[in-house]
Formats: sequence, structure tokens, C-alpha cells
Amino acid sequence: MSRYVGPSCRLCRREAIKLFLKGERCFTEKCAIEKRNYPPGVHVEVRGKFLEYGLRLREKQKVRKIYGLSEKQFKRFFTMAERKTGITGANFLVLLERRLDNMVFRLGFATSRKEARQIVSHNHILVNGKKVNTPSFLVKEGDVISVKHKDLPSVRNALESVVRRGIPSWIELDKEEMKGIIKLLPTREDITMPIREQLIVEYYSR
Ligand code: SF4
Repeated sequence: MSRYVGPSCRLCRREAIKLFLKGERCFTEKCAIEKRNYPPGVHVEVRGKFLEYGLRLREKQKVRKIYGLSEKQFKRFFTMAERKTGITGANFLVLLERRLDNMVFRLGFATSRKEARQIVSHNHILVNGKKVNTPSFLVKEGDVISVKHKDLPSVRNALESVVRRGIPSWIELDKEEMKGIIKLLPTREDITMPIREQLIVEYYSR
């Protein structure tokens, strides 16, 4: 399945949850979830009752949209999680969090994961001093992520608003130096978004 290129807010309305896809706008009253928190389309009154399959599908779609991945990329990460020891659902979310584009977003170098992916693929990000332009690159404990050109306006602007979003406890940001350190890898408990990963496991096990 190719990447969705339609209106981002429609995705949030479809899932009835803020997915934070549009940077700063998501924190204002212009957010479509604040203004029109009902599903997009005209036949809204017939929706609402999901069968089990539908529930699992929606949860899978929600998480896929949060991280902005195509179905193929999403499934690839799920397969990686299945191969690891431990709980597949938790492994899966931790793997998604460890993606470099997600880390760039979490550190506040970008206002959305979409923007973060662009910054990474345009060669603006270094990991341990080396250029990495693969958004799916998995960071490890102790990795240092930095911005190559400190005068990049989009990163400067994004860092201005990072306080509002907050930095997770497992990473440390040096705002002046525009670099972040992965102090610890995240655990399932560190991922506070409302996600029921077991439904995703069930979806792929069907
Ligand atoms: Fe979703 Fe952000 Fe649009 Fe609100 S503004 S509906 S959180 S993408």
C-alpha cells in the first residue's frame, strides 16, 4: 500500500484521536479533533459499532498513521518484533519508537514525524558523528543524534516548541548543541500514547 497523501486531520478524525501529524497546529484550537470530532464523510450516523475484526484493523491503522508508515514497512517491523524474545506487542512498539525519524521528532528537531523523516532523508542528521539518511535506522542505547547544520531554520523553529510537547525521560536533549543522547532504550511503560497493541498482534495473527 502506498503512502497516504490526503489531509492529515482526516486521519485523526477517522481514528477519533489526536495523532499529532501537523506539528504546532495540533496544539491549537484549529485542530480538527477540537472542532469536528466525528468521523469524516457523510454517513457518520451508521458507523460506531465495530466488529472484532474492525476493532483490530482500526488499532493497527491508528498506530501505522501515528508513525507514518506504509503497510509494508509496518508489517516488516511487526515481523521483526515477532522474531524477538519477549512480548510481541511490546517489542513492536519499542522498535517503532527506536526508529531514527521518531527519535528526531521526540528530540524536537522536527514538529512532526513526517517532517522528521524529511530531515533525515535530506542528510541533516548525524548518529555518533556519522551521516545517517535512513528513517528506519534503529537507534541504540548511548547513541548521540545531532543536527549537521546548526543554522537549519526548520530545526531551530521546531526546538522552540519542544517544551510544550515534552522530552521523554529516556533521552537527553542539549538544545544549544542540537544533539540528543539515548540514555536508555524505551520500555513499553515509557510509551504513553493510548495504544492497545494486543489488538494489532491479533490482527496479524488472524
Ligand atoms: Fe490531528 Fe494535528 Fe490535525 Fe489535530 S491538527 S486533527 S492532532 S493532525
